[in-house]
This record gives sequence, C-alpha cells and structure tokens, in this order.
Amino acid sequence: MPELPEVETVRRGLEPSMSGAIILRADVNRPNLRWPFPDRMAERLSGARVERLRRRSKYILADLDRGETLLIHLGMSGRMTVSGDPLGQFVHTHPALQKHDHVVFHMENGARITFNDPRRFGAMDLIDTATAQAHPLLAKLGPEPLGNTFNEAHLVAAFQGKNTPVKTALLDQHIVAGLGNIYVCEVLFRAGIDPTRKAGRLSEAQIASLVPIVREVLNEAITSGGSSLKDFRQADGELGYFQHSFRVYGREGEACRSEGCTTAITRVVQSGRSTFFCPSCQR
Ligand SMILES: [Zn+2]
Repeated sequence: MPELPEVETVRRGLEPSMSGAIILRADVNRPNLRWPFPDRMAERLSGARVERLRRRSKYILADLDRGETLLIHLGMSGRMTVSGDPLGQFVHTHPALQKHDHVVFHMENGARITFNDPRRFGAMDLIDTATAQAHPLLAKLGPEPLGNTFNEAHLVAAFQGKNTPVKTALLDQHIVAGLGNIYVCEVLFRAGIDPTRKAGRLSEAQIASLVPIVREVLNEAITSGGSSLKDFRQADGELGYFQHSFRVYGREGEACRSEGCTTAITRVVQSGRSTFFCPSCQR
C-alpha cells in the first residue's frame, strides 16, 4: 500500500509529462473505482491543461486551467505508468491496454499515463479548485508532516490527555496527515518510544522529539524514491515503488539493528495493524 513517500515519488515522476501539459484525451474504461467516477469525467478532462501537480496527504491533485482539480488516490493497489515520456532519456513505447488499466491520459506532448488498479480501492474525482480543501476526503486532514504547521506545539496539544497508544495517535489523520503504518513503526523505533505507551503519558520532550524524526524518516524515503525515479525509465515506466531498508517494519524475529542490541524485533497487533518494535530499545 503506497504511503506518503511513495505518493510523492509518483507525483514527481508524473511532473515532467503532466505539469503544464494538455490532456489531449482521457479514456475512462469503467464507471467506477472505489466510488463512481464524476459525471462526464472523460469529457471534462479532454483538452484541459494541467497547471500544477501537487500533493495533500496521500492524494495527488492536478489543478486544471478550467477551474477544476483532478484528485487521484492510489488506494491499496493503484499504479501509475508513464510511456512515451517526451522529456525522458529512455522512451517507453506505449504498451497494449492491460487488464485493470481503468483510466488512460493521452497527453498532447506524446506521453501516455495509465492508471491501473486491480483491487479498485483507488479513487478519482473532479472538484472545484477554489473549494478543493473542503472536499470530504481533504477537509478533516491534520497538518502535512513536512509542513510548518506540524510542529512541537501542535503535537503536544494533540496528544494531551490522549488515552490511545502513541502509535494509534500518530496514525490519526486529524493529528497529522498521511502517516501510515510502515513509517510510524520506523519513527517510534528511532525515537526509542514503546508504541503501546499512551500518547497522553509521554513527556513533552518525548513528544517534541517525534517531530524532527517524522520529517527525517519521510525525507529519507522520498530521497530514495527520487533515486528510483532515475532508474524507472530504464525499467517499465511504473512509478512509486522502490526498495527500502526498514529498521523494524517487516522484521519480526530478526535482530535489532541498534548497535550493541541483540534483542529480536517483536510484532504486536494494534487496532488491527501489525506493529514492529524492539522491546529493549523502545521504552
Ligand atoms: Zn534494540
């Protein structure tokens, strides 16, 4: 499941062929993904220029010159593939339509962008740019973890009196937008905080320490996503999935990577999701 760094990598990968470019034609090959597509979506997209490609949490937002914004959510299994990228050094020839290629954007510059989603938990919507932030999917989101409004004062206030485990609190999209299971596990490991501790029982210093660690973990992942973009043109043009080296995530039973620690990484289930942590390093 793509998390914020993967979505940001997809956004950056789409930028050369989409930003400032005209959508010559959009093919919409089924009536819905997770929800029905908006009315006349293909017609409303065809001929529009993408003025700006931005990201809010795990949503990609393409602002069009017609005053509408295309919202794209990759969901669980959504993938974007670019072929015929006019600016790329390696031009992928347009592949034949595959099963689950639900939406295809034919750009005037020759690029073709394909949205493939076997499980169809993804979504697309067309909304007024001026009121985009009031969209039901965006309205209640907390601050962007890489933005200025996500800071120590915000997190201390948000955690105050919270009886939920710190891991659950960090996954709460009202508190901070776009943090998912994988990166929250990594953040708490680096912070040395036991994921099962109650958010409201952490010291202010501990809560404050989480802010730079959240940024560091996400920025490192975005950087490694960026280096994957250099390679993707040589592969199949698919954006956003790249090799990670997680310190705790997915490492149950393996040795902790902290120097001098020989404890095995433990897995517990919190709110139905797996949590990986080192019981010696995280208190
Ligand atoms: Zn350890």
